[in-house]
Amino acid sequence: MSIGQRARAIAESPTMKLNEEARLLRERGESVIHLGIGEPKNKTPRAAVESASAKLASGEVKYTPTSGIPSLKQAIVRYTEENYGKVVAPHNVIVTDGAKQAIFNVLYSLLDPGQEVILLAPYWVSYPEMVKMLSGVPVVVTPGDGSFHPRMADVERAVSDRTRAIIVNSPNNPSGVVFSEEFVASLVEFCERRGIYAIMDDIYHKLVFDGCRAPSCYRFTTRDTDASHLVVVNGVAKTYGMTGFRIGWAVGRRELVKVMGNVQSQTTSCSSVLTQAGAEGALTGPQDVVEELRLFIEHNRNVIMRELSALPGVSVSKPSGTFYCLPDFRAFLGGSIAKDSLELSGFLLSKARVVTVPGKEFGVEGHLRLSYAGPTEDVVEGIRRIRWALDSRASREITFGGKAYVRDWL
Ligand code: PMP
Repeated sequence: MSIGQRARAIAESPTMKLNEEARLLRERGESVIHLGIGEPKNKTPRAAVESASAKLASGEVKYTPTSGIPSLKQAIVRYTEENYGKVVAPHNVIVTDGAKQAIFNVLYSLLDPGQEVILLAPYWVSYPEMVKMLSGVPVVVTPGDGSFHPRMADVERAVSDRTRAIIVNSPNNPSGVVFSEEFVASLVEFCERRGIYAIMDDIYHKLVFDGCRAPSCYRFTTRDTDASHLVVVNGVAKTYGMTGFRIGWAVGRRELVKVMGNVQSQTTSCSSVLTQAGAEGALTGPQDVVEELRLFIEHNRNVIMRELSALPGVSVSKPSGTFYCLPDFRAFLGGSIAKDSLELSGFLLSKARVVTVPGKEFGVEGHLRLSYAGPTEDVVEGIRRIRWALDSRASREITFGGKAYVRDWL
């Protein structure tokens, strides 16, 4: 069987692959701690369950308009006003199968072959692959100062006459960093002035800690929405823990949203009416579920920071949002354990049965991404096992999953 060259060049999503590996190990009865996971473990908010169930019970399960059910789009208009202080029209909104498809559709609608998209490292794993799928060129900008905070001067240096868009993800997966107001302001101002699209992947914008708020990009533009280069992507996956519903959306200028709708009408037709109803239930129902989830994640963030501080050689910057952190494991690389983050991640899975995601996948070698979205006990247990596997001062014996293990590699 021969497969097309373009598709062959696309890597499997490493996080999806790790999820599958962990699932298979668990199926074999192994005690696996999943610090790779990109979803909170809360139950679906009741309002979402009720709304989706009522739709199913009605027996009216049909196509919806391509860009989404009008009442869900109306709820997204309200969400944008309440959370961003920005009034947009329903024609500025398109509902998609998750934020992932929103980003893909935006890129599909903007890019011609050979055009460039600037990605800020560390970046979400899917951005470069999506750009490549569309015969575009990902241009990675890495902060010159070794931090995870992008600098406008670095971005401007990477811009060429082929630059079509810049993807900004703050709060950031994988670092947990919330970009500064100054950075967002200068980026938005720059993009509007230069006619470059700023794709704001805001999927984690409500999962922020310590009283911090992710700045609303709309504050920094005076342009009318239909003349603006801002595209804001969001969804119910992270804020409400509704990953399996696959509902996201994009808010942008009418002309772009219309083309995205054409693309969608020829590919998926529309998102499922059932999960759109669920998303509408979540957006219009009681919002205390969001705060509950946020508080749980913030608690886990504090726990993982405390546990990591007992691991000598590892440094980590404290996340201000998301449910990830990106500790620096370079002290353990290059020796007998592992040469790079990919090998270290494999080592931790095989020896300690802990899933982590190699920093290499996010454009930052030497780091591992750890998720603290799962149960607090898993966060504690995962770091206990990592400490056993990597810290020569930790006890050589450990028990997990009912079996005792002895460390014989340090
Ligand atoms: N953007 C980022 C930065 C993400 O981390 C994710 C999910 N891991 C998505 C987009 C996709 O979200 P959804 O599940 O709504 O497609």
